[in-house]
Amino acid sequence: MLDQTTKRRILVAGGAGFLGSHLCDRLLDSGARVLCVDNLLTGSMDNLRQALRRPNFEFIEADIVEPLPARITSRAFDRIYNLACPASPPLYQADPEHTLLTSVLGTKHLLDLAEKTGARFLLSSTSEIYGDPHVHPQPETYWGHVNSTGPRACYDEGKRCAETLTFDFSRAGRGEVRVARIFNTYGPRLSAADGRVVSSVVSQALAGDDITVFGDGSQTRSFCYVDDMIDGLIALMEHDGPEPGPINLGNPAEMTVNELVEVVLKITGSTSRVKRMDLPVDDPKRRRPDIAKAQTVLGWRPITTLEQGLTATMNWFDGRADGAASIPKP
Ligand code: NAD
Repeated sequence: MLDQTTKRRILVAGGAGFLGSHLCDRLLDSGARVLCVDNLLTGSMDNLRQALRRPNFEFIEADIVEPLPARITSRAFDRIYNLACPASPPLYQADPEHTLLTSVLGTKHLLDLAEKTGARFLLSSTSEIYGDPHVHPQPETYWGHVNSTGPRACYDEGKRCAETLTFDFSRAGRGEVRVARIFNTYGPRLSAADGRVVSSVVSQALAGDDITVFGDGSQTRSFCYVDDMIDGLIALMEHDGPEPGPINLGNPAEMTVNELVEVVLKITGSTSRVKRMDLPVDDPKRRRPDIAKAQTVLGWRPITTLEQGLTATMNWFDGRADGAASIPKP
């Protein structure tokens, strides 16, 4: 992996966010030159503290919904990763039109740049394109069950449309693409306040506050540690086979939200109690990736255990770690 990315010129849109900042760090470690483009809507300069110390890193504040400025489009890139889009439901629903346009217009602007500069393009799509699935676990061949008029549609349908744009771009012979369907990912640099289940449960447990569980907690999720996810994204971008995706990236170890709460309480030693709230509209009941394709095509699978990943996340929330994601691998 290191040799493949060395000296590459790489643009990471959304690079100040949770996943994007870890991706920037990893690409910089490999010797690549990285330009991060972000409007800081849900990301932060704090996430880029380590990257900003590196000579091969540059940050440009820009909104990809708008035509990209010449100081970006005048440059040459070998790789463009599009991770720009809020991923937490309360944040992507705060300005739904902007969320939708980020996926649609933002992806179009980055694809146009990819064509101009001959860069390979990777779209970070999502398991949300499967909606509240009728097929379980979800393989890439499942077309999904999405409510196109509900409050989550700005995200789900935006990503579906971004996938369409990306595959039409590829079919038209305009450039090489890769599409990752990312399932729930957690780790250091998640924001405590952004409403995602792992960040909420860990931060509430550490503070000794009531832990909010929506519904009866029997809904399932599959949680992937960020370090594994970054391995998967780079493996997908760098594999030279004919497979553009979509490829599911996630951890197939499925658990209920109640089980997650139990593990967090054990690891943190917290005595927080559970407070139940109404299930949000269109909340998916089950979510688990079928990762057979990622295993076959990329030789990738997640290797971090939930206990290892949650401990690293907890240490970061607690201020005992600096936000780096790496955990010694077996
Ligand atoms: P995040 O909110 O932490 O990061 C998104 C970044 O994009 C932020 O830095 C934000 O400021 C930036 N951004 C948003 N709109 C923008 C715009 N119009 N122009 C420029 N920058 C913009 O989210 P994340 O968890 O790091 O997710 C990254 C990507 O991965 C997203 O595309 C998301 O849909 C996808 N994804 C993430 C998960 C997950 O569990 N983390 C799951 C599925 C898909």
